[in-house]
Amino acid sequence: MQLDFNGKKALVRVDFNVPLDKEYHITDDTRIRAAVPTIKHILNHGGAAILMSHLGRPLKKLKEDGSIDREKFTLQHVVPHLSELLGVNVQFCDETVGEKAERIAAALKPGEVLLLENTRFEAGETKGDENLAKKMAALGDVYVNDAFGTAHREHASTATIARFFGEGAKTFGFLMEAEIKNAERVLHNPERPLTAIIGGAKVSDKILLLERLIDFVDNLLIGGGMAYTFLKAQGGEVGKSLVEEDRLDLALELLDKAKRKGVKLLLPEDSIIADDFANTAQSSLANSKAIPEGWMGLDIGEQARKDFREVVFNSKTILWNGPMGVFEMPKFAEGTKMIAESVAQATSKGAFSLVGGGDSVAAVNQLGLADKVSYVSTGGGAMLEFLEGKELPGIRSVRQ
Ligand code: AMP
Repeated sequence: MQLDFNGKKALVRVDFNVPLDKEYHITDDTRIRAAVPTIKHILNHGGAAILMSHLGRPLKKLKEDGSIDREKFTLQHVVPHLSELLGVNVQFCDETVGEKAERIAAALKPGEVLLLENTRFEAGETKGDENLAKKMAALGDVYVNDAFGTAHREHASTATIARFFGEGAKTFGFLMEAEIKNAERVLHNPERPLTAIIGGAKVSDKILLLERLIDFVDNLLIGGGMAYTFLKAQGGEVGKSLVEEDRLDLALELLDKAKRKGVKLLLPEDSIIADDFANTAQSSLANSKAIPEGWMGLDIGEQARKDFREVVFNSKTILWNGPMGVFEMPKFAEGTKMIAESVAQATSKGAFSLVGGGDSVAAVNQLGLADKVSYVSTGGGAMLEFLEGKELPGIRSVRQ
């Protein structure tokens, strides 16, 4: 962060959209912790921090009488824990913008922190409303965007607001910088061989990603539910595995594109199959193209694990998004576990590894391997769109 914060009030867009339990206790504070270095840096360099974030979707989940459920969606829930992490008594304003917010912001002194109310209490937030952004911008002297998780959204506090700050008055926070740097390391001049491991439920969610990856990876390993659409497209019998019938042609096109580009694309040779979508189901091992009727593939099989592991071990750069099976059920978590361990081992031998996207991140965390890979992204959708080659509004607006 190159900005001079001395004597300045820095408006910082953070991502405090954390999961809460029924009593509104934070169940996973990863996102709050991720913003701490940026906030501390501002405070340690003579600045004050005015924090903005959203929490949930308050306007999509209104109360029966049509009003906002302020009790549920207030950012006040994060204040005690944030104060503890920062070692500073965080002030809270129950407005996002308005007279009160202006008054408290104006009185803020260097070293102090103010958290504004949920940005999504304002209808203009998700519309990228200019008036709202202008009011937000007026609260601070400089703007810092550290909310990678919402960088793919063109909202008032994530993108529009940056227009009101000239060059030298806006920057990325440390988290944003790290996310961008690590994703760019995969996208631009990666050390080769470069392997992408893509899993998860549906091909349709990741079409753009797959198309783009085929342009520049050396190896593409496809596991998870999405593999069965490819296997069926090739003429395989996949029983009642997850298949998107309307994507069979697309799957063939992607396979063909990979061939033309010389990309080694691997589908799971065999699968752990089950007679029901349940951890208590009967299970067995089968060739992925000969799954009996009434059975479904819920994890990659033993041969597939060996094949995938060998490719991972010989890679110098690895990108992983999406589980290899229904890893929430212990019986079908082994393939994902093996991939996580292989990526960690390859990393210990010098490979660079980036894990991005919700469920694979959950898997490495669950297995305690998060610090054994090079970088774990905090942004699911944002990281996917970044890797698809899109210029994210939250990044573009700060660079402009
Ligand atoms: P995604 O959000 O697209 O990364 O998908 C993650 C979800 O895919 C997880 O909830 C997994 O349980 C699910 N999944 C992975 N493999 C399979 C499979 N073979 N069949 C059905 N669902 C799967």
